[in-house]
Amino acid sequence: MRIYLDYNATTPPLAEAVAATTRALTSTFGNASSVHAYGQSAKAELDEARAAVAALIGAEPSEVVFTSGGTEADNLALRGAADALDPAGRRHIVASAIEHEAVLNTIRALERRGWRATLVTPDTSGVIDPAAVEAAMTADTAIVSVMHANNEVGTIQPVAEIAAIARARRALMHTDAVQSTGKIPVSVSALGVDMLALSAHKFGGPKGAGALWVRRGVRLVAQMTGGKHERNRRAGTENVPAIAGMGAAALAAAAKLGDMPAVAALRDRLEAGVLAAVPGTTVNGDPRRRVANTTNISFDGIEAESLLIALDLEGVAVSTGSACSSGSLEPSHVLKAMGLPSPRTRNSLRFSLGAATTPAEVDFVVDALPGLVARLRTLNRPAAAAVR
Ligand code: PLP
Repeated sequence: MRIYLDYNATTPPLAEAVAATTRALTSTFGNASSVHAYGQSAKAELDEARAAVAALIGAEPSEVVFTSGGTEADNLALRGAADALDPAGRRHIVASAIEHEAVLNTIRALERRGWRATLVTPDTSGVIDPAAVEAAMTADTAIVSVMHANNEVGTIQPVAEIAAIARARRALMHTDAVQSTGKIPVSVSALGVDMLALSAHKFGGPKGAGALWVRRGVRLVAQMTGGKHERNRRAGTENVPAIAGMGAAALAAAAKLGDMPAVAALRDRLEAGVLAAVPGTTVNGDPRRRVANTTNISFDGIEAESLLIALDLEGVAVSTGSACSSGSLEPSHVLKAMGLPSPRTRNSLRFSLGAATTPAEVDFVVDALPGLVARLRTLNRPAAAAVR
C-alpha cells in the first residue's frame, strides 16, 4: 500500500489538467505570439487558462501574469515592485518570519542591495498579529508581504486586515497564496491586496506553471527581459502546455472547494487518532484558523527525519515541513519563529491530505505510528544517555 500525505509539497495532477496539457503539447503546440492559425490556437489556450485562473481568485484576466511557478511569482512581485519603487527612496519591507523561502530569500537579496527588512514573528499558534505588522512599519515601508496560508502548519493569516493597514500607509501588499488557492476561497478584492502569487502544482496542475496577479495600476519592473509577452511583465515564450493544465486545474479546483469539509473530516480523524494512539504528541498551529488538509504534529523523543523514513518504508509519504529544507536536519524556521521549544522544531511532521485521501489510508497511518514511534524512541534512549 502506498499512501500519499504530502499534498502541500505537490498534488497529483488532476485528469482534467493532464488532458489539457496533453492537448497543448500535441494539438495546440504553436507559439502563442505567432500570427498564423497555430499561434492563434495556442493563444486561445492561454486566454482560456487566464480566464480560469482569474475566476479562481475573483480577478480580471488581464491582471494575471503567467510565471514558471510560485517561486517566480514571489520573485516578480517583490523584486518587480522594489525596482519600481526604488527611485522613491522608501526602501523598507515588512514580511512575516514564517514566509516560504521564495519570499525570505528574495528579501535577503533585496537587503544586499540596500533595502531594509523587518520580519514579524507570529504568536505560538502561528498567527501574525496585524498590530505587530503595523508596529513594524515605518515612513519608509514600501512593501508588506504576508502569506495567506502557511505551508508547514496550514495557519491562515489575517491578510485582509494587514492589507488594510498597508493601504492606509501607502505600502504595496503582496500575499503568497500558493498554499491557500484551491483549499479555501481566495478573492483578491476581499483580501484587498495588490499582488498575489499562486502555483499550479499545489492545486492539481502541472509543475512549472504559476501566476502573479497584479492589481491594475500597480507598477512592476519585469525581471525577465526579452519579448513583450505577458503585457511586458514577463518575457519568454509562454509554457502553453503547463499553463493550459493550470487553467484546467483552476476550473476543477473552484468546483472542488465544496469537497474540503470531507478532507477536513479525514484530517481531524488522522489527528485525533494519532494524539490518542501515540503518547507525547502535540499539534502545532492554530487548530481553528487553518486550511482543511494540513496537520503538523510533534512527536516527543524522536527526530522527525527518522520517523519520515520509517513511514516511507511503510509506504507512507509525509514531510518534515517545507520540502525545500528536507534532507537537512535544520530546525523548521516556522516552528522556531512560533517560539516552540527547540526539540519541537526538529521532531514535527506535516501530514497534508487531499481529495483522493481515503479513511482506510488514514486508519493505516494511525495504526502504524505507535509501533514506529515506540521503536525510534527505544533506539534514541541509549544515545541520549551517552550524551549526558
Ligand atoms: N510559496 C509557498 C507557500 C509554497 O508552499 C511553495 C512551494 O512549496 C512556493 C511558494 C513555491 O512554489 P513553486 O514550487 O511553484 O515554485
